[in-house]
Amino acid sequence: MNHDRILAIAAHPDDLDFRLAGSAALWAREGRHVEYLICTSGEKGFNGDGASSRSIEERRAIRESEQRAAARVVGVKEVHFLRHPDGELANTLGLRRSLVRIMRQVKPSLVISDDPAKDTYDSFYGYHSDHRAIGQAVFDALYPAVGNENFFPELMEEGLGPHKPKEAYFGSRDRPDTWIDISETFDLKVKALACHKSQIPDIEKLIPELRDWGRRNGEAKGLECAESFRSLEVPQ
Ligand SMILES: [Zn+2]
Repeated sequence: MNHDRILAIAAHPDDLDFRLAGSAALWAREGRHVEYLICTSGEKGFNGDGASSRSIEERRAIRESEQRAAARVVGVKEVHFLRHPDGELANTLGLRRSLVRIMRQVKPSLVISDDPAKDTYDSFYGYHSDHRAIGQAVFDALYPAVGNENFFPELMEEGLGPHKPKEAYFGSRDRPDTWIDISETFDLKVKALACHKSQIPDIEKLIPELRDWGRRNGEAKGLECAESFRSLEVPQ
């Protein structure tokens, strides 16, 4: 890992805490600058108290504050929200422009997202249409749009010139090639997930599953607890 600036992108609040909070905590501890970008605010997937009586704005506000708290736990510097409607993400030019805008602001050398190459459809959660859409949209934003000034020239008027991230990590269980040992930051990952109280009322119940997931991720590398990714260099 030789990246100083990292941008992790997801569809919903809590996605990144499941996928990479242990890695984010480790990177932050090593002095790397990590930011999150969350494309919806998860208002439809809200499971908290009074779910049916709360307005969309209230549900969004709760989930955003949970995500900000979780980010603070692991040392993430900033959380950006695009506030697209939950459940309605699509790989459109509009979403691609929004992703390019934030990438040009943050200037990451590493961008992390869902894997657009997943195609096993072996879990409804993993293949939520927002997760599929965001994987594709990030892939398309990374090349060639973000690094080419002829894409979205209106962003140049905002002072956001081209920027070329060097590498992408896609969250992958199927064909990982990059493993991050999170045995020392697993407790912080649990603490971050516990911030999502509307979604996870009893974190204790989830810990054995999280440990097992970390063990399965790290198995191929002999790691006790890991998060795994498929990496790809971005053309320069
Ligand atoms: Zn999600």
